Amino acid sequence: MPTPLPRTLTPCRRTLRFDLLTALILLTLAALLNGCAQPPRYANSDGAQLDKPLREVLRWYWSRDRSQADRPVQLPVRREPRATEPAAPGELSATWVGHSTVLLRLDGVNVITDPQFSRRASPLRFAGPERRTPLPFEISALPHIHLVLISHNHYDHLDEASVLALQAQPGGPPIFVVPQGLDAWFHDLGIRDNVHVIAWWARQALAGVGVSAVPARHWSGRGLFDRGATHWTGWVVQRGGYSVYFAGDTGYGDGSDFRRIGQRFPALDLALIPVGAYEPRWFMREQHTDPAEAVQLFRDLGARQALGIHWGTFALADEALDAPIAALAAARRSQGVAEADFRLLEHGQTWVLHAPPHPAQ
Ligand code: ZN
Ligand code: ZN
Repeated sequence: MPTPLPRTLTPCRRTLRFDLLTALILLTLAALLNGCAQPPRYANSDGAQLDKPLREVLRWYWSRDRSQADRPVQLPVRREPRATEPAAPGELSATWVGHSTVLLRLDGVNVITDPQFSRRASPLRFAGPERRTPLPFEISALPHIHLVLISHNHYDHLDEASVLALQAQPGGPPIFVVPQGLDAWFHDLGIRDNVHVIAWWARQALAGVGVSAVPARHWSGRGLFDRGATHWTGWVVQRGGYSVYFAGDTGYGDGSDFRRIGQRFPALDLALIPVGAYEPRWFMREQHTDPAEAVQLFRDLGARQALGIHWGTFALADEALDAPIAALAAARRSQGVAEADFRLLEHGQTWVLHAPPHPAQ
């Protein structure tokens, strides 16, 4: 019977610098205590659950080549007032904060995806993947956030300090939209009335935005024994004639999930698609798209334009922090996608897809 992936070595947090002895002890403990874990409650759309046997985890951990991931890379960070301005009516723009955190301005409504403003993507303050590219601005500089989209509960996507800071923002808390089963985590933090759960393919109107949950191919877990206990999801937000898709964290699979999303939402203006944390492919393929798959996913959706996310911020896999830049360029060339249609931004950079009408008009 396959053994659940021990939490201390999960791909999203695998750069914990435990020595091999510690890793072995934890792996053994996880294997011994496997009987305490609940069977996973949620699965991918085809019923599959990403469940790597222990021998694969060990093979990956011990065969890791960190030389690329550890190579110092300095990515530019933009610090411009535009990045923290609130949304104007008629506007569609996106500011990349880093990793999967994007501030979307959607016709007067400020939406943020997977807010992660902490130093580490980890349950521990002293260990775990550390931010390699500085934040362009602190969370306190954000405009008033109306809507927060959470894709799943991995530490690089669901950050307790960032959630609590948003809950305490001046002017009142935002609405948090979460996948099935994740509301309990918010309730434990004392966040109740403003958390909404949406199941795949369901839709709710929240903060004046149509919010739909759509499938992703991934998994969940924050501890040793909660694997698959909450769901993972992508989101489509619609307002003012604009539609934006946020993939969350996902593998590509056979692409059928994304073709279906494109059929359901045939006029996506912008798609936020992960392009990082993809090496080695034999280990990462099921859970993270590489740039070539990201471009294929974009084409499956039929979206007008895409922004690459989930890269350049936390070194979560074996490729270099800046590897997605060249890999995405090659993927665009080989699949005939224009550079302007699948972009990467600098941290803190804002992409204005539709400027607000001039105030004088
Ligand atoms: Zn994840
Ligand atoms: Zn992730």
